[in-house]
Amino acid sequence: MVLSNFFMLAGVNPQAATRWFSALYVDAYDWVMQTNVVGMGLNADGGIIATKPYIASANYINKMGDACGGCRFNPKQRTGADACPFNTLYWNFLITHEARLRANPRSGPAVLGLKHLSADERVQFQAEAAAFLEEYVP
Ligand code: SF4
Repeated sequence: MVLSNFFMLAGVNPQAATRWFSALYVDAYDWVMQTNVVGMGLNADGGIIATKPYIASANYINKMGDACGGCRFNPKQRTGADACPFNTLYWNFLITHEARLRANPRSGPAVLGLKHLSADERVQFQAEAAAFLEEYVP
């Protein structure tokens, strides 16, 4: 879930992401990849498996596991040098796909938070996400 989440938030081509999983995991069988990765993880099957993109910020990752405790990033920080990249990319994803997400009733709660962002915050999320992607996602 975390890896698929990252691929989707980073805007990685779903076919490239699927090839990556297939190359690295011995249990990347077709039936697993088509449902769990292409459908659930990447929302790249036209909405057959999942009716909305399942995206998450660091808040969810932090709640579901203990990895954040020893991380150099702060899962509660959304911008700045110590902000968790999952937060920056999460908000950038919502901003980038806002119109499409708003049109999907199941995505409503996810985009509600956007109304609390100022224009400056939107620009900051997009700028920090772009800088991260330029540096780490070829
Ligand atoms: S704070 Fe670190 S461990 Fe937690 S989600 Fe962000 S990058 Fe991952």
